[in-house]
Amino acid sequence: MRIDALISELPGRVLTAGDEGWDAARHFHSGVGDPDAIVRPTTVAEVAAAVRWAAAEGVPIVVRSGGHSDWGSVPAGLTIDLGALNDVEIDGRTVRVGGGATWGLVAHTLAEHGLGVSSGDTASVGVGGLTLGGGIGWMVRAWGLAADQLVGVQLVTASGETIEVTDAEHPELMWALRGGGGNFGVVTRFDFRAHALDSVVFATLGVTGDARPVLRALRETLGGAPRELTVTYMDVPAMDPNAPAGATITAVWIGGDEDSARTALAPLLDRDDVHETEIATTAYPDVLMEMPAADPDSPMPGFVGGNTLLRQLTDDAIERLVAFREANEASVLFLRSLGGAFSDVPQERSAFPARDATWFAMAGAFDIPGLVDDESRSAILGAWNAIEALGAGVYGNFTTSTDTAIAGKMYPPATMRRLAAVKREWDPANVFSRNHNVLPG
Ligand SMILES: Cc1cc2nc3c(=O)[nH]c(=O)nc-3n(C[C@H](O)[C@H](O)[C@H](O)COP(=O)(O)OP(=O)(O)OC[C@H]3O[C@@H](n4cnc5c(N)ncnc54)[C@H](O)[C@@H]3O)c2cc1C
Repeated sequence: MRIDALISELPGRVLTAGDEGWDAARHFHSGVGDPDAIVRPTTVAEVAAAVRWAAAEGVPIVVRSGGHSDWGSVPAGLTIDLGALNDVEIDGRTVRVGGGATWGLVAHTLAEHGLGVSSGDTASVGVGGLTLGGGIGWMVRAWGLAADQLVGVQLVTASGETIEVTDAEHPELMWALRGGGGNFGVVTRFDFRAHALDSVVFATLGVTGDARPVLRALRETLGGAPRELTVTYMDVPAMDPNAPAGATITAVWIGGDEDSARTALAPLLDRDDVHETEIATTAYPDVLMEMPAADPDSPMPGFVGGNTLLRQLTDDAIERLVAFREANEASVLFLRSLGGAFSDVPQERSAFPARDATWFAMAGAFDIPGLVDDESRSAILGAWNAIEALGAGVYGNFTTSTDTAIAGKMYPPATMRRLAAVKREWDPANVFSRNHNVLPG
């Protein structure tokens, strides 16, 4: 690897082992990486120079936006850290966001203008990875995925060219960028269409007793609810630092109409096994979670389980999901309502799979020595695989797998073939392979 050539082309931007700041630069949100080099471009031209260098040298590229995926943990290669490209510009309803911005920054900037964009739930997550993989957040039923609001991008391609991509300019590439991940180049600017948003109603409901009837009631409630309402059901053990222990339903209603939010939630609030903890009107940026970065001295245990997009939350699915949680003390269960605007988007409009899904489900046991051994690990996986078989595809953004073959579980065959054709046109040598990788077809 002739890194000297890149260092002389981009003085002050490239770090290698032993350089001042190397250890801090290796930290990404979910861990500590071990790349050969890290480049921190401050302009689009510098991104292009880094891509051209890596492509010529045959060095694998890891693109880092918010650093929340596990791809940063794969050793070697060149990390292109886009953190400095984080401008947020508002032009009417169009929002232009640098490829390294985080959702917290975007939400705060938009809120000052009475605007919002469907994003994820956590402030520090990157606009890059979340949008390119789809992006499921609190507005998913009202406005669809983050990727559904994407109207254009600026892209540095595998050949180092900088192009503008829109539905008119490069329609197939634009299609692939809405859910096809980081396979097609480095996005240096995302252009979103924003929505008017003054405030949201945020609700937290506690759940007690058997989760099965509550989940059936939640399914029925959402089946008839206005699309302003999106909910999450979460049941976590005490050891999870990310949420209070136990089962909760959280809900966001778009707009500040607390009465309408209460009416939509009434079938749940009327139940004896559901109680109101909080229902209040607030600013959207305030509902985004602040999640501390991974502590290298106490890494999170592994996760045995997975996620799936469910067309229907059937009684059978509920039974299996709740039984999974009950059987594993240190496990989490997470459900997010879909449908609404998410399902209005025709399947062929974007690479994101399963537009007819009405729920997203994720369950997994923490792989803690003493609690999980080889035998129980395989039993847990067996239970999870039976749940996954009920679903219509895996949501790549929520997998912690860095097995490139995972893409085969994410996209139906026709979508995969179409993605492979786009990949062949724009990245025939698979320069961008450190992602849920689509091979050139
Ligand atoms: C704490 C936490 C909360 C989360 N919450 C949500 C949520 O509410 N909703 C949801 O849908 N997902 C959520 N996720 C999953 C998240 O969407 C993925 O982890 C996503 O990959 C993170 O994006 P990132 O930019 O932070 O990660 P990164 O690791 O920086 O990027 C992930 C991958 O995306 C590609 N990529 C990123 N930026 C670019 C770019 N500018 N150009 C080209 N390729 C790029 C690269 O292939 C890269 O390897 C969450 C994850 C965590 C850890």
